[in-house]
Amino acid sequence: MLGLPVHVMTNYPNWLLECLYQGRGTHVVTLNAEMTMQAERNTSLAEVIHQAELVIPDGAGVVLYLQLLLGQNVQRCPGIELAEKLFTEIGQKQTATQVFFYGGAPGVAAKAAASWQQKIPQLQIVGTHSGYHSPEEEAKLLATLADLQPQIILVGLGVPRQELWIAQNRHLCPHAVWIGVGGSFDIWSG
Ligand code: UDP
Repeated sequence: MLGLPVHVMTNYPNWLLECLYQGRGTHVVTLNAEMTMQAERNTSLAEVIHQAELVIPDGAGVVLYLQLLLGQNVQRCPGIELAEKLFTEIGQKQTATQVFFYGGAPGVAAKAAASWQQKIPQLQIVGTHSGYHSPEEEAKLLATLADLQPQIILVGLGVPRQELWIAQNRHLCPHAVWIGVGGSFDIWSG
């Protein structure tokens, strides 16, 4: 897609579950037209998208382009839906999975976490952190992540901040599935 990779699959959550259970560190980028335009101007973002293990078509423009290019049906999968499907699968498999939510205004990620925890008890939300803080707090957050080693880390800081942040810090939890989820915590927290 305009020089960026996109992975076309029929079942993204299943592929991610495999990564999760095998401890294969994965960065998931959900690509829409706006992000492709940003990546044209921002070479760091383009580089991060190239390095991500999974780039998912999120956005009608990207899906239409791929369908014309490939001559086949392409499934659209926004980050929020991907995370929801992944959580539902984890609930059905009854496997305890440790999750961390980072991003959003103070209290938002915690509220979203409480709502998911109630719906799916297998999701052990081991921590949350707001996306507005000082550099000192960020250092503490990184130490906490390195200590907890959550299996799934959702980052909702908006594009391109979340993608760049994940690429910069993913070495701290090399076996985790990291997903940039934009404003998903705002939606889940009601
Ligand atoms: N955000 C944040 N820290 C910041 C800037 C933004 O945590 O310094 C959060 C903001 O509160 C919101 C999310 O990032 O929850 C961005 O949501 P948006 O829907 O704008 O994301 P995008 O459209 O880029 O996916």
